[in-house]
Amino acid sequence: MSGETLSQDPEELRSRMDSSKAHPARVYDVFLGGKDHYPADRDAAAAGLAANPRGYLDVRHNRDFLRRAVTRLTEDDGIRQFLDIGTGLPTAENVHQIAQRTAPETRVVYVDNDPVVLAHARALLTSGPEGRTDYIDADLKSPARILEQAERILDFSRPVALCLVAILHFVEDEEAYPIVRELMDALPAGSRLVLSHLTDDLNPESIRAVQRTYTERGFTFVLRNRKDIGRFFTEAGLELAAPGVVPVHHWRPDHAAPVPEQPEETYLAGLEDIEK
Ligand code: SAH
Repeated sequence: MSGETLSQDPEELRSRMDSSKAHPARVYDVFLGGKDHYPADRDAAAAGLAANPRGYLDVRHNRDFLRRAVTRLTEDDGIRQFLDIGTGLPTAENVHQIAQRTAPETRVVYVDNDPVVLAHARALLTSGPEGRTDYIDADLKSPARILEQAERILDFSRPVALCLVAILHFVEDEEAYPIVRELMDALPAGSRLVLSHLTDDLNPESIRAVQRTYTERGFTFVLRNRKDIGRFFTEAGLELAAPGVVPVHHWRPDHAAPVPEQPEETYLAGLEDIEK
């Protein structure tokens, strides 16, 4: 267990939470079938769904990609430490529950900048006795701060899987590429990068319409193509593992979840893992 440093001052939380505005974590939660959202989030989700009726499916495929990636890294690659930035609201299967099924000693640090996620963070601090979990209330744009705090429970002399799953489309190019490089530079050989990203390569009209629904609400929303997503790996000096940058459901499917009949319609581009 951990989380002894989790600060949840109710006054501060209230002042940071604005239920009249959509929050990406809560909009995502609508699609995942969660309960922690307000009318503004549901309106944003409805607008997204009108633009891309596959929204529900795409989010679920993305989440299932995260499950497969964590499972493969834990079972096949012996990874025992995860730094999951852009965690989202706790759901049925968070990274530590997936990893600790195979390796109970796994340590996971969760990071998100949304006060809604912070308010629910206790549900992420449910590590089994042999492992540990922690939560950091921080912005991806402050990588040095994240690294410093993550060291409370992660050992940076041993491999870490950095998970940036469905978060980098909220960050502009000038910041996004250097941030990923800085984070990976701090991690030792054998570390991995797990990444998924919204793309306009596969279903451009729908996803650009979704993009408009976000930008109208004041969010940065950057769509990247396969090449630009691949650059996150090459610019951090990493080599993409098979099968490369692919639609999420094509990334090492294990058939524990159904694969869509028309896979090319999905808009979430795949992840990779890497070997330094
Ligand atoms: N990784 C999860 C959730 C994705 S939703 C999954 O793939 O299932 C994206 C999450 O990123 C949201 O919870 C949102 O609050 C968080 N986020 C967006 N921008 C962020 C930033 N700059 N710093 C930290 N978290 C951020």
